Amino acid sequence: MTAAPFRSLKSPQDLIEADLVEAGQRDAVTEVADRYAIAVTPAMLALIDRDDPLDPIALQFVPDGRELLTVPQERADPIGDRAHSPVTGIVHRYPDRVLLKAVHVCPVYCRFCFRREMVGPQGEGTLSADELDDAFAYIREHSEIWEVILTGGDPLVLSPRRLQAIMARLAEIPHVKIVRFHTRVPVVEPARIDAALVAALKASGKVTYVALHANHPRELTAEARAACARIIDAGIVMISQTVLLTAVNNDADVLAELMRAFVETRIKPYYLHHPDLAPGTSHFRLSIEEGRALVAALRGKISGLCQPTYILDIPGGHGKAVIGDSTVESVGEGCYSVADWRGGVHEYRD
Ligand code: SF4
Repeated sequence: MTAAPFRSLKSPQDLIEADLVEAGQRDAVTEVADRYAIAVTPAMLALIDRDDPLDPIALQFVPDGRELLTVPQERADPIGDRAHSPVTGIVHRYPDRVLLKAVHVCPVYCRFCFRREMVGPQGEGTLSADELDDAFAYIREHSEIWEVILTGGDPLVLSPRRLQAIMARLAEIPHVKIVRFHTRVPVVEPARIDAALVAALKASGKVTYVALHANHPRELTAEARAACARIIDAGIVMISQTVLLTAVNNDADVLAELMRAFVETRIKPYYLHHPDLAPGTSHFRLSIEEGRALVAALRGKISGLCQPTYILDIPGGHGKAVIGDSTVESVGEGCYSVADWRGGVHEYRD
């Protein structure tokens, strides 16, 4: 029996001692660790079933020798952040919103991460004071920026004091109305969501949204749900994002349970991402056709409240496209063929 650690596992040796990696895999996992960061928090370790070689939690966080294989279509910057970065830490892809990447550290390192070349101890680090000044100056000078999305890395690894300082600076910019945080912390380190952190996410005159990244219903533990409740009870809206991943959640029942778990937690399902072309992640990818079939299967299974939007981040930084499920096809001017969730086909004219 392995004693549960009170700290995150961050090295191949930690993973071997925790029985997550066999000693025979040490060389391959060490090679992976030289390229991509590793971290498994105690909360995620507690969820892993070591008797299941396809445990969906382990697959997300425990490094795998298959990550050493890069296929030709994979890219170091799959969604083209760098092509749209006018100053360090800012990505300005759409006119009315920017990403503010204040930190490139995460509490866990997801094996499929689309920014895996940028995050972690060897990644792009935390913005310096001067870089932050330049990022805020850029936001201030662009009056079309309505929404600032804090991502990274995981912005909720920052201390409440630093988060509050960021929010205070955003509060001084009148055209910014919405501040959105993208995070995995409520799931992977729920105790971090305390009163001080929640208070730091709010700023006078701004509306805060928190987008929670979770991929399997087991991640929504009682502790995670309680952490989300602390955020929502403070008046912050929560939405979800999920990455479609082979062997983790490419199953309509698993996705249905996950989407219901979000709604039960008062989190509105938002994005279901088709996996990005990040290096060394081909073992996670599925075809768009398989993704479409899964999304179509969700239609009849779960309430409209639970339905996410299935999207593709177009490689190269061209933004998001809704993949849809081909249930509505134009068959002539103003005329459509509409398939219902049972497969029946109907004619519709507008
Ligand atoms: S938490 Fe987000 S940014 Fe960090 S490794 Fe996971 S997917 Fe990447």
